[in-house]
This record gives sequence, C-alpha cells and structure tokens, in this order.
Amino acid sequence: MTEVTHRTPPSGAAPEPSGYDPAAIERKWQARWEERGTNNADLAGGVRPFYALMMFPYPSAEGLHVGNLFAFTGNDIYGRFQRLQGHTVFEPLGFDAFGIHSENYALKVGVHPAQLIPRNVDNFRRQLKRAGLMIDWRHELSTTDPRYYKWTQWVFLELFKRGLAYRKRAAVNWCPNDKTVLANEQVIAGACERCGAMVEQRFLEQWFFRITDYAERLLANLDWIDWSESTKTAQRNWIGRSDGAEIIFRVQDLLEMAGAATVGWNGMATTAEMSALATDIRVFTTRPDTVFGATYLVLAPEHPLVDALTSDDQRDEVNAYRAAAAKQDIVTRKVNKEKTGVFTGAYAVNPATGQPIPVWIADYVLMEYGTGAIMAVPAHDRRDFEFATAFKLPIRPVVRAEGPLPTVSEDGALMNSGEFDGLPCRDAGRRIVAWLLSKGLATPQVQYRLHDWCISRQRYWGPPIPIIYCDGCGPVPVPEQDLPVELPFIEDFRPDAAGVSPLARHKEWYFAPCPQCGAQGRRETDVSDTFLDSAWYFLRYPSTEFDDRPWDPPRTKTWLPVTTYIGGNEHAVLHLLYSRFITMALQELGHVPFEEPFPKFRAHGLIIKDGAKMSKSRGNVVIPDAYLQKWGADTFRMYLMFLGPFQEGGDFRDEGITGIRRFLDKVWQLAHEARGPAPSSALPPAVARKLHQTIRKVTTDTEGLDYNTAIAAMMEYVNLVREQGAGTRDAVEPLLVMLAPYAPHFAEELWAALGHEQSVVSASWPSYDERLAAAGDVEIVLQVNGKVRGRLTISRGATEAQVVEQALKDESVRKFVDGQPVRKTIYVQDRLLNLVV
Ligand SMILES: [Zn+2]
Ligand SMILES: [Zn+2]
Repeated sequence: MTEVTHRTPPSGAAPEPSGYDPAAIERKWQARWEERGTNNADLAGGVRPFYALMMFPYPSAEGLHVGNLFAFTGNDIYGRFQRLQGHTVFEPLGFDAFGIHSENYALKVGVHPAQLIPRNVDNFRRQLKRAGLMIDWRHELSTTDPRYYKWTQWVFLELFKRGLAYRKRAAVNWCPNDKTVLANEQVIAGACERCGAMVEQRFLEQWFFRITDYAERLLANLDWIDWSESTKTAQRNWIGRSDGAEIIFRVQDLLEMAGAATVGWNGMATTAEMSALATDIRVFTTRPDTVFGATYLVLAPEHPLVDALTSDDQRDEVNAYRAAAAKQDIVTRKVNKEKTGVFTGAYAVNPATGQPIPVWIADYVLMEYGTGAIMAVPAHDRRDFEFATAFKLPIRPVVRAEGPLPTVSEDGALMNSGEFDGLPCRDAGRRIVAWLLSKGLATPQVQYRLHDWCISRQRYWGPPIPIIYCDGCGPVPVPEQDLPVELPFIEDFRPDAAGVSPLARHKEWYFAPCPQCGAQGRRETDVSDTFLDSAWYFLRYPSTEFDDRPWDPPRTKTWLPVTTYIGGNEHAVLHLLYSRFITMALQELGHVPFEEPFPKFRAHGLIIKDGAKMSKSRGNVVIPDAYLQKWGADTFRMYLMFLGPFQEGGDFRDEGITGIRRFLDKVWQLAHEARGPAPSSALPPAVARKLHQTIRKVTTDTEGLDYNTAIAAMMEYVNLVREQGAGTRDAVEPLLVMLAPYAPHFAEELWAALGHEQSVVSASWPSYDERLAAAGDVEIVLQVNGKVRGRLTISRGATEAQVVEQALKDESVRKFVDGQPVRKTIYVQDRLLNLVV
C-alpha cells in the first residue's frame, strides 16, 4: 500500500498504472471475510431474510468453467445487492455429485467415483473461493454424502407411504452402451445423447412417482409464480394438457357378425348377446368433432387387444411387425417419417356413422401415450393422411375448409356429419360428445402429455432405493431408523448388460432381513435418479447441521420458499418441474408450509465462444483459473457481466477485459484522491445530476439483472467525474457501494482506504433524488407498426439499443409486438421509436 502515489493524470486520459494489485488485495480480503465470518448469514436471527439460490453444479473433473462462473457471479451480485439493501442474505452452494456423468467419467479414467468426487469438489470449492463469491460455506452439501442422501431416501419413503411411488413394468429407452435407461429427452434421433449408441426398447420393472396426479396444479400455479415467460411456456408444453374425449369403438368379429346375421342381426339378438361378441377399443381424441371422418383405427403394436383381434390369415404378418417394432426406441417411433403398419384383419364400428372400419397396428402409436389406440381421421390429420395414402385407406372430409387435404384447422364448419352438419367445429365437438355419451360410447376427458416420473436407474452411483423385497410381505420400506441405506463400496461398479444394477453383485449387501417378518429378503438394487437428489436440496441448505431431521421447521419457516432462484434454462422443464412436484407432495404431507419452492425464478444466458456453445467436444471450454490469476476476481467478474445481458449471455473474447481493468484503475485513483477531508463545496451540478442518474440506473438495472448496462452507467459516471476533476469523497463513496456487488474485494479495499472501519457489505445502498435524476430525462414516443403504443422516460442521449431494450419491456408495446420478431426499427434520437413487426 505504501507504493500508492497521487499523481493526477490529465483529465480523460488513460490512467497510468495505479498501484492496484488485485492478487494481494483479494488474498487479504478473502482471508478477512473468512476470519470474520462476513459471508455467513445469521440463519437464526437475521432480519429480512433473503435466500439467493443458485442451481448447484455437477463437480466435473475439468473444474469450474466460465459458464458456471458467469451464472454464479450473476447470482452473487444479486445477493450482495440485496444485502446492501438491508437484507440478511443466505447464499449457499453445494454439489450435485451423484449420477451418470460422474460415473461414466470415473469409468473412463479408471478411478472409483468415491475417490474422484471429493477431489473434484475440492477443486470446485477452491475455484469458487478464489472468485470471491459470498457463499456461506458452513452450509455446503453434497448429494453423495450419506448425511444428505439419508433424507433423499426418506423423501422416497414418504412418497411411497402416501401411494405416490409405485412399481410398474414399462417400455423404456435402453442404451446398450451406457447400459441404462434413458429419458425420452436423452434420445436424439434414435441415438443416446451421451455416447451416440443406437437406443433400444426394453421392458423393465421400475419405480415411478405419480407426478401426473399433480398435472393440474403444476399447470395452474404457473399463472401466479414470477418466472420468465419462456420458462413457463416450456413447462406448460411439457405438461401438455389437452381437452377431448375418450370414444369407444366396438369391435365385432367378422365370423361372429356373419353368424349373428342369421339369428339376430335383424334385431333378434339381445343387446347382451351382442355385447358378449364385442370388444371395446377406447381412443382418446382432442378432435371429437371429426369422429364422422374416422375411417380406420390404429393400435400400438403392444396394445393388449392385438392378439385377440388378429385374424388367422393376418397373424404371421402382425407378429413379424410386432417383433420388429419391439426393437426400436420410443423416440424414433414417434418421429419416424416413413409410415409402416399392418392390418389386423379386424373391424370396429365407428360409433357416429355405424359403419365398420378396419383396425391396423402401426409403430407410430405408442402404448405410453393416451390409450395406445387412435381413431384415424386422414382428411384432417397430417400423419393419418400420410398413412391412409400409403395404404390406400378411405379419406372422408368432415370439416369444410379451404385448401388441399389434409386440413387441420378447427375454424371450419362440419359436413358429412349427419345432424351436426353446418355447426362450427368446437361447438360440434361438445355436442357430439354429449350425443355419444347418451349412448354410452364416449366420455369427456382431459389428457396430459406428462408421464409419471421413472426414478429407477440400473446403475451404481446413486442413493439406493430403500426397499427390501420379501417373499412373504412384498416390497417393504426400510424403517426410518435404519436410514441411510448406504451405498456399498464396489470395486467393479460397471453396469450390467442384463439391466440389473451392480449392487446386485454385492451379496452381503444384497441380502437383508425383511423389516416386517425377519425372513431373508433382497434389497432393491436400483438407485434413484439424480433428479431426485436435486428436487429437494434447497430445503436442506438452511438445516445442514441437523442430522435428526431433513429440515428444521423454524428455519424452514424463516428461509423458505427460496426468495430468488437463478439457473440455466436447460433445466426449465425437468429439474424445476420435479422440484415443484416434490414440494407439493411434501406440503400435502405436512412437511413444508408452502407448495411452490421458487416463487421467483430467472434463467441466465449462456456464454459462448467463437459463436458456439462451450463444450468439451468442440474444445472451446474456457477454464477461469488463468484469468483469475492474471486479472484478479474483480476484473474477471465484471468482465463476464459486461459480455452481454445476464439473461441472454454473450460471446467470450479476450479483448474486452483490459477495458474493465482500466475502469477499475481509474476508480482506484479517484478513491485515493478522495482520501482527504471532504471539501466544503458541493459537487458541480453536472456531476451531482449524473450521480443521481447513475444511482437510479444502477439500482434499477441491478434489480433487473441488467448488469452490463449498470456497469456501463458506472463507467460513464467515472469518466464525467474525471473530466470535471470532481473526485471527492461525495462523488466516490456512493460509487464504491454500487461497485461492491460487482467488484467486492476492490470495493472493500477502497472503502477501508477512505477510513471506514466496517466492511462495505454493511454499508447502505445509496439513495437518489428523483428530481435531480430526472433532470436529464426525455420522453420517447413508442410505436408499433406506426401506431403509438406507449411512452418511455429515459436519460437524454440514450442509444437506440437501450431504447429498444426498454421499449420491449413496456407491457403495452409487448402486447402489440406479441412475440413476433422485430423486423425493423426507426429511431429519432430522444424523441421517437417505431418497431416494425
Ligand atoms: Zn449411451
Ligand atoms: Zn417379510
């Protein structure tokens, strides 16, 4: 510190080396924070609790990359900002260390994950500490810690006791290389997302959670939780509610029908006799209005009725087709363009027309969706049209519409539909369902695209599912006092091609007495999905010191639900949906007093490199260590935040970083100039106005996670202060407080240099005088396609990009833009903006 000089550079010119030595300062402050517990939140008595949660990382062997650091820094700035606003801020971090990523990597490098993971975690923790995050390390957790997964198992058992966990034999995607089940979204064009092997279909007994029971609530709550629209839309689509009807098509065996014709087809047979001959095929449709156009039915090859329906002369062909379909994975079957199928030889009666229509099987119909059977309306469905064309099946239009068939619009009126002709589709749909309902042939129904959550994994690296199978008692839960069921150390943890978890090979572990009758039982050998580990971790952080309860009720009441949650949009669906479901179930069980874990969620953007997403295969992953060493954490944090809007991300380039460093050098000099006693004269009016505008802008932008523009505003302010030679205490102190979330060590150092004894984290966020701040404002007229839709108040001289950005946040403008891309913008400086969409 003694080397600091007070040379004043000519105003506006680049400063000479200022004496700012990030390495020394950051080391000093990090040690002090640790010693003083600066980053520890007072969980028992803190005022205005604020839980600033960041999605926890998977501790890869490569260590933290800049994408992680970008996200964590964004959350850290937000947490620090809230602290300066008077909140007690809790910013915990942990590690999502179970799962196939870790296990596959361990297999690849030939090190046991139990040895590998602690090493990776140590490396992550070291990097995170170096980056200066305000993490309360006392509450660190790892999902692989028995103290943690004891409670993951407990959550499973709670759901099991309530009937929300059940076992079922089901078709699954199986990767023959990774030797495990894959979720549909892990299958890309028929291949495993991880290893590229072609995926197969298998039937396995698995554990499922009844998330579908919660579909309606998961959907309804999206209307009030404060999440970005794109995330909500992703969840809505995933849940995929559709309103429609289940319609019954009666099947009659042709021979029986021929026989019946002699005895009673003309009315002599009783209804009972007729239904004895009949089998019902139930189909779900969202378009009951088109039932008169259903000219054939298609069943999934696995449909349980196929055997009974198939006629003798079609049997060989049907069996061959079913065998071939069984080899395919579920995803390929859904998206396959080429339509294949086989006629079963059976006919069913269209309940609307009374006509017999042929029953086919085809692999594009899946047992997992709806009823495993569809009514095909080739005139008004593209897929059915292709199929009917390929197999020369009849096509019967029932909706009057412009254009060539198939027409899929619901805007027309019915035709060829008996008494319903001329009615608009939607109205007709309701009436047709009512009419069929009166004949016992339809029921209105809601369906969801969402499936129950399969939580079984036939792998090693996860929490064992706490169930013991007993020949006498069936599946018996492991009693709570016996938790955790520890994952045994198994030297050879490779998965098994038979679909049995490696845990089955550990005999001493595998055999266990039945908790109910004491007879020898067998442990469940599947481990649970890593998404279960992460579906409740936020409940654990405030209560990590308790081993006799998963979370402490008073702590939970004070700290939860999470105040703000920040994470990647790649988790918009699974992780966020599973966490919401688990929380709802726990609420019903009386374990938590709220049903939504994350009332406010924001997705951060991605950092790309050379125009592409960072990935190991592209070789463009940037590890932050070298940058932290060369530039220091503060410069690097601000540089990352300056790359682009936090919620959009940016392109990582090396050039920009010197600009940030020069900015900090300038502030360093200003602060040292300001060390003397405050001058009696007030700030020059231009500086005072700019200061209030800057406080206003940095406050709003930081609150809105617009960190890049907040930094730009501070830079402008510093340039003006230097131009005016106004580097006094009044000008610099508020700036240091605003900088504290962004460059925490730097702000601490200068705050102390200005004579403050308390840490800058205990300072108060500066307030601004609205009148002064508004002095430089202009009002801009906002138009969409030439029509006035709103007005925007912004500082004079704002750039077109800034005005467009603000305009797109205006509710009325958004309404008229309505999600369409802006094709052109016309901007008249300080007066008018017209968006052409
Ligand atoms: Zn694979
Ligand atoms: Zn038993």
